[in-house]
Amino acid sequence: MTAQLIDGKGFADNLLDTFRKQVDQRVAAGKRPPGLAVILVGEVAASAIYVRNKQKACDRAGVKSVLHHLDAGISQTELLNLIEQLNNDPEIDGILVQLPLPSGIDSEAIIESIRPDKDVDGFHPYNVGRLALRLPTLRPCTPFGVMQLLENVHGDLKGKHAVIVGASNIVGRPMSLELLLAGCTVTTTHRFTRDLPQHVGQADIVVVAVGKPGIVRGEWIKPGATVIDVGINRLDDGRICGDVDFVAAAERAAYISPVPGGVGPMTVATLLANTMTAVQQHDPL
Ligand code: NAP
Repeated sequence: MTAQLIDGKGFADNLLDTFRKQVDQRVAAGKRPPGLAVILVGEVAASAIYVRNKQKACDRAGVKSVLHHLDAGISQTELLNLIEQLNNDPEIDGILVQLPLPSGIDSEAIIESIRPDKDVDGFHPYNVGRLALRLPTLRPCTPFGVMQLLENVHGDLKGKHAVIVGASNIVGRPMSLELLLAGCTVTTTHRFTRDLPQHVGQADIVVVAVGKPGIVRGEWIKPGATVIDVGINRLDDGRICGDVDFVAAAERAAYISPVPGGVGPMTVATLLANTMTAVQQHDPL
């Protein structure tokens, strides 16, 4: 392996420790700690793990997290009522609804019901729209976490050619907006893209978020490129892997993020960064 590993876990841990100091300062000044409401619907095993990780991060950062674990059979109206109650709760700065939701519930309607200044996942059209207009406020967590890793490695990203593989609402699309904001020349690829290897082969920065192990092959990577693997896939033997053929890609890349230990912890840390931004808006120190 020639690439240098991008240590997302270490970076995220440092961020959480910084937030802890900021929360301690708030509390010492007589302010309340930030409050995060976490809504988990049903019993999806992966969602329960993600929620547990987010709660652990809250504990480390001193953020008060309140879990609402609801039955899978809850109606959309009941869920909307809970969100309305949390929207109006002065002790709650952020509301996180763990996706996916059961099939009978319209996820878009749920996301849009969260008050934009409490939308710490950054999924509300208001927050994505502000990012598109170069006025970022609460930023989608995973792409914002990736930006912090990239800026830590490279500093200024202006003029770099970034290729994103995947165009979902929660990762690929806002990732394109973030990289554009940072002055990159951006190519966004998706399921209808022709000749994916040719696009990837031109990239100074490749960000992959598809959910298919090995979709990006090592030999496609331009020598010296930076590779960020957002994918999280569970193999039949229980191991977790990303979307990039890691071993071969690491022979060509200059920097590469591992799975696990790369983007995942940064997504959680960025959720807390957004919660810190929100509390500062609601109850400034
Ligand atoms: P998603 O909603 O299923 O979106 C996948 C995207 O990949 C879609 O935009 C799809 O294109 C595109 N795609 C499918 N086949 C493709 C191909 N052959 N070439 C190029 N693009 C292709 O998934 P997601 O929510 O974005 O998540 C993607 C992966 O990231 C998953 O493994 C997920 O678990 C992981 N993830 C990780 C984190 C983290 O914190 N590390 C956070 C979120 C997600 P179309 O738009 O045309 O359908």
